[in-house]
Order: sequence, then structure tokens, then C-alpha cells
Amino acid sequence: MLKVLPSHISNLIAAGEVVQRPSSVVKELIENSIDAGAENITVVISDSGRTLIQVIDDGCGMSDDDARLCFSRHATSKISKAEDLNSILTYGFRGEALPSIAAVAEVTLKTRKRGEEIGTEVVFSESGMISQEPSSCPEGTNISVRNIFYNVPARRKFLKSDASEFRQIVSEFCRVALCHYEVSMRLVHNKKDIYILKGARNVKQRILEISGKELIKELVDLKTDTSMVSISGFIGKPEDARKNAAHQYFFVNGRFFKSPYLHKAVQKAYEKLVPEGYSPSYFIFLEINPENIDINIHPSKTEVKFEDEPMIFQILNASVRESLGMNSLGPSIDFDMEGAPEIPVPHKQGVYTPPPKIDFDPLFNPFDSVPISGARATKGADKPDNTIPKYQAEPEVEGYGEVFEEKIAESRNILQVQGKYLLTTVKSGLLLIRISRARERILYEKYLRQLDDCTPLVQESLFPTSLELDPISYSLLDEASDLLPKMGFDVSFLQGNTISVNGVPEGYPTDIPSVKNSIDELVILLSDHGREALNRADGRHEIALSLAKSGSKGPSAQLSHLEAQLLIDSLFGCMEPDRTPEGRVCMSIITTEDLDKKL
Ligand code: ADP
Ligand code: MG
Repeated sequence: MLKVLPSHISNLIAAGEVVQRPSSVVKELIENSIDAGAENITVVISDSGRTLIQVIDDGCGMSDDDARLCFSRHATSKISKAEDLNSILTYGFRGEALPSIAAVAEVTLKTRKRGEEIGTEVVFSESGMISQEPSSCPEGTNISVRNIFYNVPARRKFLKSDASEFRQIVSEFCRVALCHYEVSMRLVHNKKDIYILKGARNVKQRILEISGKELIKELVDLKTDTSMVSISGFIGKPEDARKNAAHQYFFVNGRFFKSPYLHKAVQKAYEKLVPEGYSPSYFIFLEINPENIDINIHPSKTEVKFEDEPMIFQILNASVRESLGMNSLGPSIDFDMEGAPEIPVPHKQGVYTPPPKIDFDPLFNPFDSVPISGARATKGADKPDNTIPKYQAEPEVEGYGEVFEEKIAESRNILQVQGKYLLTTVKSGLLLIRISRARERILYEKYLRQLDDCTPLVQESLFPTSLELDPISYSLLDEASDLLPKMGFDVSFLQGNTISVNGVPEGYPTDIPSVKNSIDELVILLSDHGREALNRADGRHEIALSLAKSGSKGPSAQLSHLEAQLLIDSLFGCMEPDRTPEGRVCMSIITTEDLDKKL
């Protein structure tokens, strides 16, 4: 027998589409405020939106009746006839957001219509309207959404870490802020101001407010007009490309959208200009005839269907290449590179160059390093298998156990080969060590020991480097400020999303580009694993591994004889000296027989 679902159940089902996480609510509410013509919008968040999401605007407000009606499904003031669907200029038009939000949270709406004497306050929950009373609120609308998913434990459980949920909220906030640079917008999280954006004169000013002056210096203009699409905006210089470029935005007709396909069009233009895995920041605005796109294909409306997507790909790719070329940042302004021979990367300003080589001490404090001990070494030799899962094992290193026994002659000769290898003699032949891998193993064990014991790492002091971060990274680090010393970082938090890095883990390079990179990687680490990671063995492994990898990547400088000797000693002081934590071989013995075979 067929049954029509009671409305609170159908609302709950629809809510699953519209409200996936706290940031979806933020998005819908801010968009409603924009649609209502607000000039000032304040977003107040507590606990990454878990306990409170509040959006206050000075838009047109609602009448008493509308304040009740807006919670009914498909109640919208924005379209009334089918043709309207082809020329939508507002964000909303489905009339689904508010009923969906009220289905999964406790909602209080205070609103006063422009020109009315008095406003109204409505309380809604899963089961419908709870109360409505007159309210002496200011003109505009003030919605509070509390305890999201209180009635959908499964959803609640699947929320990511606070940091990650908050990051999503900031992204939604920024997306709207970038399209509506003229609107003053403020974001407050746990009573702290994250953004106070004054109404800006143009997009560039807004970008400056959002991402700081460091990024704005790195942007160049993008502008192309064709009959099919107009492209404008800003793209980052290649040298500013990052592993986790936080600012990558596409907008079409004033609406943010996601497109891995068009991202590729941009990325491809940078192909030979940035190291692998790096991508640039970009703020790209497309204007296109609304009839040639469909924004209606997904309830959360971040996907857009273009009529001729491959064409847009070509135009965008050419536009980015042209802009890079005009700013002498790219290899060429040749518009048709398909099948063209590889263009050599010219060494001019703007082309990626590795960080400057500087001297740094790649080794441990000699008084701190674990002495070679027979017992330890044998232990390592007994179990050459790495206990950490998931690595591609390389062939066994033969005979390294014996190396421990003979303890390399005191006055050994150590040869350095191309800053990459150390070569020394042992009883059975020659011992070859790959320096960066050896460092990785040594640092890994050191960090892991210290994370396990929770003893703060000894830090290398350096001239404090001040860095301006994006607010997400800043708040992520700030939240983890108690953990940072355990991980070897000495960071102080200054005003305006700026930090001062006073110390990095021992073994880390200390030139400014490297410090920037280390902080970037620390942010990725914290956002990927969350602060709970330190309490779990596998989390500590990941952290130690990531720290060791960053630390061992330092520029290759000629080691002094003492440094080379210390490196070898420290390596043999390790539990598992033969491999990196991920299983790559650190050392190899070329036996006398091998040599005999050669000559
Ligand atoms: P949609 O935005 O798709 O119309 P919503 O559920 O988001 O649907 O909102 C329903 C209606 O409530 C809107 O059409 C609008 O008339 C009214 N509304 C919602 N938020 C606001 C606001 N901040 N200011 C004024 N009116 C609002
Ligand atoms: Mg809406």
C-alpha cells in the first residue's frame, strides 16, 4: 500500500541533500542574506558550527507571515513562473534551504521587514513551528541554527575534525565574499574575529582583505573576451605555487563553482613552471550567457554544466598562458602548443627555482646522539624487516649486520659523492650511504622517540621569521599551539594572522623559504591528522615521518668530515638503519667480490 511520507520525514530526507555539514548551512544562510540585498552580514560560529551558526543581515527582512512560511518546502519569493528558471540572478530559488535546516537543527529566526514598526521571532524545530512572538529586533534578519544534526546521530558522527569543518566554513564565507566585494562581511569563531571585511571597491581589494598582502603581490591579471565567454580575474605567479594552494576559485556569473576539469586547464598552463605537485592560486571569474549553462544540476549548486566545456577549457588554458607570457612568467605566448616540441624552461624571473643553498647543520648534537652499541645494533640486525606497514620493500641489504661488528675503523676515510652519497671502507668492501635517506631515518627515530616520550624537542634557534598566513592555517596552528613545541616548533602568534617562527625542529633548514615550506607542511599535517593523532601510535608514526621527510629535504651542502662521520654514527645508532621509514634502502655494501668481478 502506498503512503505519503509525513512532512517531517520528507524534510529530513531532503535535508540530507542540502545540509551535509555545518558549512552547508553557512552557505545557504549567507546566500539568503545576499539575495535579500544585505549590505552588512555577520556570521557567528561556535565550535566549528556544531553548537551555533548565526547569520545576521540588514537585508529586506520578512513579514510575520513570511517568517512562518519560509520554513515550508518550496516556499520562495524568488521565482513564480517556469520561464524565471532561465534567468535566475539570485542564489536561491528552490525554497528548500530553510525547511531542510529546520529539519536537522533548532532554528530561531528574528526578522523585521524594512519599514515595519516591529519584527517577529519564530522558533522552529524538527516537528515544525514551536512559537511565534513579536520582537523588537532591528530591520533585517537574524537566524540562529543550534545543535546541528542533534536528531541525526549518524550525520553528527561523520563530521570531520573541528579544524576541517571550520576550514569548510571559511571557504564558503570567502566564496561569497569574493563575489560580493561590495558587502561588508564579518566572520567570528568562538568569539574571535576571523575576518572583518569592509565593503571593497573592487575584487582585488577584497582579495587583499581575504588573503593578505603577501599573496596580492604574487598575482597577475587575467583578462580575455570571446563571444562565448568573458574571463577575468587573477592568477598567481609560478614561484608562489604551493602544495596546498588555499585560494583556488572559479566563479561563473557571480556564483562559485567547482570544476576539476577546468582546474586542469589552469594547471596545464603552469606545467613546466612549477614543481610537480604544486599548484598556483587563482581567482577566475567567467561571464557567460545564462542560457548556455545549467546551475541547477545539484542541490548544493557547486557544479555547473557548460554547453561546450572543451571549448571553455581551450579558451581558459590559452588565457592563462597568455597572461603568464605577458608577464614574462611563462615559456611562451604561443596559443597552440598541442603537439609542439617541449619548450625549455627559461631561467628568468618567475620561473621556479629551488630554494637557495645555505649552510645548515644536518646532524644531531654529538652529545645527544645515541652511541653505537653492540646490543642495539644487533637488535636492528636481527629484524631488518621494517615493522611499519605499507611500503614497497626493496631488495634486502646484504651484510650490513657485519658492519656493526667491525664498527668502521676509527680513522676511516669518507668520500662524498656529488653531495648525495657517502662512501667509506668496511671490512667486507665499500659502504655506500644515501645521505638524504640516512637523514630521514635518523630524524624519524629521533622525532618518534620524542613524540613517544612527550619530551619537547631541542630546537634550533633562528632569527624569528614572521609569516602572514591565511586565517584557516592560522587558526589551525593556534588551536594546536600546545602541540607545536612537542613537534619541535617554537611559534608565537601575532595580530593579523601573522606568526613568528622562532624555532624549527632540529635538523630543519632555517632559510626563510624552507621555514615557509615547513610551516605549510605542518599545517597540512595538522589538518590531515588532527590533534588527536598524537595520542595514537600510527598518528605519531605519521607525524614523525612527515617531520623527518621535511627535515631531510634540506639543501645538499658539502658535509665536513666530522659531520659525515656523525651522520654515519647516528645512522648506525638507529634501530633500523638500513631503510627509511617507508622502506627505501639507505645503504648498500659493495663487497670485495663485487669489485673483483669488475676488474
Ligand atoms: P530560496 O532561497 O531558494 O528561495 P530558502 O529556503 O533559502 O529558499 O528561503 C526561503 C525564502 O525565505 C526566500 O525565498 C526568502 O523570501 C526568505 N528569506 C530567507 N532568508 C532571508 C533573509 N535573510 N532575508 C530576507 N528573506 C529571507
Ligand atoms: Mg536560499
